[in-house]
Amino acid sequence: MDRLETKWEAVSPEYEHLGGRALIARILLTEVPPRCDPLGPNNKLIFAPGLLGGTSLSSSGRLSIGGKSPLTGGVKEANCGGNGGSDLARLGIKALVVEGQPAAGMLYQLHITKERAELLPAGEWRGLGTYDTAARAREQWGGDCTVLSIGQAGVFLMSAAGVACTGHDEQDSRLAARGGLGALMGSKGLKAVVLDAEAAAALPLADAELFRASARRFATELIESPKTGRKGAMHLYGTSAIVAAVNEMGAFPTRNFSAGSFEAAENLTGQRLRELTLERGGKMGTPCMAGCVIACCNQFVDPVGNPVVSTLQYETIGLLGSNLGIGSLDEVARLNRLCNDYGLDSIEAGAALGVAAEAGLARFGDEASFTALLDEIATGSVLGRVLGQGAVVTGRVLGVSRVPAARGQAMPAYDPRALKGNGVTYATSPMGADHTAGNAFGNRLEVNPLGTEGQCELSLKLQLGAAMLDSTGLCLFARPPVFADPQLTVDLINSRFGWGWSVADLEEMQRALLQTELAFNEEAGHTAADARIPEYMTREPLPPHKVVFDVPDAEMDAIFSAL
Ligand code: SF4
Repeated sequence: MDRLETKWEAVSPEYEHLGGRALIARILLTEVPPRCDPLGPNNKLIFAPGLLGGTSLSSSGRLSIGGKSPLTGGVKEANCGGNGGSDLARLGIKALVVEGQPAAGMLYQLHITKERAELLPAGEWRGLGTYDTAARAREQWGGDCTVLSIGQAGVFLMSAAGVACTGHDEQDSRLAARGGLGALMGSKGLKAVVLDAEAAAALPLADAELFRASARRFATELIESPKTGRKGAMHLYGTSAIVAAVNEMGAFPTRNFSAGSFEAAENLTGQRLRELTLERGGKMGTPCMAGCVIACCNQFVDPVGNPVVSTLQYETIGLLGSNLGIGSLDEVARLNRLCNDYGLDSIEAGAALGVAAEAGLARFGDEASFTALLDEIATGSVLGRVLGQGAVVTGRVLGVSRVPAARGQAMPAYDPRALKGNGVTYATSPMGADHTAGNAFGNRLEVNPLGTEGQCELSLKLQLGAAMLDSTGLCLFARPPVFADPQLTVDLINSRFGWGWSVADLEEMQRALLQTELAFNEEAGHTAADARIPEYMTREPLPPHKVVFDVPDAEMDAIFSAL
């Protein structure tokens, strides 16, 4: 970006067998000084589809975005649905690596086609949110392009900023939300990346017959599953299907994580979302990317049928709903719309707003008071810049010690006191508090979520599983067939590339990924002291089960010793 130059490079042998999150981790450890300023010229912003991206395989087009995190100060990968991963892969691009920094205050768009990559001035888009940025890019380049963009939060270099990606049909804002990667993109002077994959040819397959058979088996198992099939909760209700269960187990964050169940939770459930959406003419059960057979997304509309947000998800319902004392899906959706437009991670923003409410700057249950704070972020006022730095900075500035965060990053919508496996993941994952790095909710029937026994083993297993998903581009919700039989993933990879991998090779890739990320964090200065749940959660019992987080530190410190 300092030379305003684009160039194509052949993939070095060191990177050849890596994709998505694994490739990002390796590039970071090899090419980025771990102690660099995350918003300085030595950090790199990396976009990388997974190994299976761009193929016809269901649910395989997640796009990984990464760099050194401005929020955690460590390694970061966040991935999003939409068309970005598939388009980048179909353009034949293994990774887009953004280096350097332009002159202060300059903004650009990067337009990529099969033939060329070109940087163009985008100063006139500076004040636009992500929806308008995408609209302007589509006016310029045509409606079929995919637009990755930042909103005001990214331009202001706020650590709660994510990167928005356009998707299939009405799915117009899928965020790679976590870790402040929108601020990293802003620091590179990049307002948007526009992908035009229209002319891209189908990707070559080393063994087309094996690929077709494996892809068919994968899709069939998803379609026939009671969870992900057409009669399954994921398709009918989307991720909001779990609201009632998380509330019931006492892990639903309520009023800045001060309780684990919310009295108005029944207004936020998947059933309620489905009823409201369908009676108003919205959509349920749509895919965020072409070809996904699960199709877990929705288009939430207002009472007169105008689209508000696509898609309204569980984590957002938790952080912008119960966590703020709000028991109305309409109100949550409006706050969600603002976060998407300003390019904010709804988890980090929701947690920061909860902390602000505890400090008296807003009122729990009062949507207008939270809207006003989000608008402060978009205008870049001093208060907005504090909130936009996320929950930890907000708590420090406002004198609130009850900040639900680990490794500098706000917690998703599972209180770790009542789902202790997630607490272990929040504390120990190189990613910080991120449920997608190893979500124990799906295993709550096997390991008692309130007990301490087996939580570290479970978290490690799930963290390794997430490493596979995030490196192949597979969606977290499509995990059952590949978790049940690792050979299926191996067959898909071998039939795409002809590498002759075994299950042991796949497992080695997963282990090496975590080791690489841990090494980067260690060199960046992270220590065991960073791998902790906030102290107040070890002392303050969480209603209704009156539980604290009590997985022993020594067990968490030893979690990766078996890698
Ligand atoms: S399961 Fe849902 S989030 Fe995952 S790829 Fe399919 S539509 Fe997108």
